[in-house]
Amino acid sequence: MKIKTSAILAVLILTIYCAFSQIINIERVNPPFWWVGMKNSSLEILFKAKNIQDYNIKVIGKDITLEKLVKSDNHDYIILKILIGPNAKAGKFQIYFNKGIVNLFYNYELKDRIINTTAQQGLNSSDFVYLLIPDRFSNGDTVNDKIAGMHDSIFSRDSLFSRHGGDLQGVINHLDYFKELGATALWLTPFFETNQPFASYHGYAITDHYKVDPRLGDNQLYADFVKKSHDAGIKVIMDMVFNHIGNEHWIYKDKPFKNWFHSFDKFTKTNFRDVTLMDPYVSEADKIKYTTGWFDKHMPDLNQQDTLLATFLIQNTIWWLEYAGIDGIRLDTYPYPDQKFMSDWTKAILSEYPKLGLFGETWVSGLANQAFYTKNSGLKNKYNPQLPGVTDFQLFYAINNALTKDFGWTDGVSAIYYCLANDFLYENAYNNAIFLDNHDQSRFYSVVGEDIDKYKMGIAILLTMRGIPVNYYGTEILMKNFGSPDEKLREDFSGGWKNDKSNKFLKNGRTEKENEAFTYLAKLANYRKNNTVLQDGKLMQFIPENGVYVYFRYNENKTIMVIVNQNKSSQTIETSRFAEIIKGYKKAKNIMTDETLEKLDTITVGAKTVMVLELIK
Ligand code: CA
Repeated sequence: MKIKTSAILAVLILTIYCAFSQIINIERVNPPFWWVGMKNSSLEILFKAKNIQDYNIKVIGKDITLEKLVKSDNHDYIILKILIGPNAKAGKFQIYFNKGIVNLFYNYELKDRIINTTAQQGLNSSDFVYLLIPDRFSNGDTVNDKIAGMHDSIFSRDSLFSRHGGDLQGVINHLDYFKELGATALWLTPFFETNQPFASYHGYAITDHYKVDPRLGDNQLYADFVKKSHDAGIKVIMDMVFNHIGNEHWIYKDKPFKNWFHSFDKFTKTNFRDVTLMDPYVSEADKIKYTTGWFDKHMPDLNQQDTLLATFLIQNTIWWLEYAGIDGIRLDTYPYPDQKFMSDWTKAILSEYPKLGLFGETWVSGLANQAFYTKNSGLKNKYNPQLPGVTDFQLFYAINNALTKDFGWTDGVSAIYYCLANDFLYENAYNNAIFLDNHDQSRFYSVVGEDIDKYKMGIAILLTMRGIPVNYYGTEILMKNFGSPDEKLREDFSGGWKNDKSNKFLKNGRTEKENEAFTYLAKLANYRKNNTVLQDGKLMQFIPENGVYVYFRYNENKTIMVIVNQNKSSQTIETSRFAEIIKGYKKAKNIMTDETLEKLDTITVGAKTVMVLELIK
């Protein structure tokens, strides 16, 4: 009898153990933890475990309510919609799984919030952003260069497409360099795990939304990086992608819901024509293909109209903002995802973090077309975008035109004039990120024919113009190349690796010309940093004449006069037509040369020169 009881007990234990071992292997919990005291008190937790839908589920915790249990089309997933009441406390609450005699408790953690959203600085036109690709910037930790079991394991700095070993530690190691340059914010291309078999280094084909790619570091190191950047007076911008993911993402390989993706019988690429969203003569087929077609073969297109996926993405953003204390977000491929979702996302994020800086990538052609995506533009966008700013491709084209084309009614410096005149399309064009090049565009120094004078003109315009200036890594040291493939624009920063031939982070590692460029940029960036007039000062521009374009930045304390001469010869200009802004001023200090102009009646500007003058009474 005694033996029999033990046998029954053993069988029972084994049964429990077997059942237990199945459920105990919870493969995913997203988000992995959360916080009490968020404005939005609801939380949707996605669980992945073998046959998880077989279990009865209860939630046990003070002021924690299970509002809804959503079973997915896939037996291995559930979503718990939880309400975190005002009396819920930080700590662990229990999620109880029951099947027959099997009982399991999963402890889900709620933390106290650490981010003081009212004290957040956000990101605005006072900033000067440095954009970099972590894999290509500096290798601060060689141990993480190759991670066993991960795809894309070919590690060769000679290959344009392979990983090169740069990482978060490499960025942390150069915080002083960014400071020296006058940068106030860092924008890193996405840091998320990108476990793709090919060209995974750029990070735009995410495979896990809650994990830093191990080749770059880990989540804790990312949080440390943000903290150390803040300590150095530098803000951090996160780069996020809502349009697509990598096809090695676990939500694609084992889909929680089929409806989370746009799928086709055979591969269908987007037509990349965002104008289908605003064209009054649009073909419905073109429009559908634009939004639902895939960005590339290895990038499944997300269906953000699915409310569960929408919440998954919104919560993921909030999780990183709260976890790491990020200051701003750059939104990749902004016109591609469902535009109602993008509006909802922005509302949700700004509701939790009102001071957060946001700008969307709008690689589009046309001024109205670009403004269409911004908040309160007054254009016919039925989804009422909430986005404060965009990447200002139209100004980028205009500056490019000014420095490469002859002067004309609309060309040369006139292109900038017309571009700015259209700022009436924005609620606030100062929220736009402005740039001379980026990771998808030919290097600026190459575009201007490796002409250092034109290079300086571009830098001077960038740093005196309205908006949030962005410098692409290496532009300060005259890195060059034309695109195609894009990887040619993403070469390693020399000196970022231990045995590099030269160390461009240091003055003595740079050539004379590179130092000329670096010093020019750093001087003006630091002037801008210390003079609010170039940050949020008003702007007044005058009609360009004879290849000379004059604009002013001014506030109650200072007036800055910027004279852009695109001619190959020096020009002397009469200043009487600027009387409405220049009157009362007698002299000026040239910010770049420190010389004083004793008279302002006429000013002579050198060939291919931008003069930046601080006016003196
Ligand atoms: Ca490394």
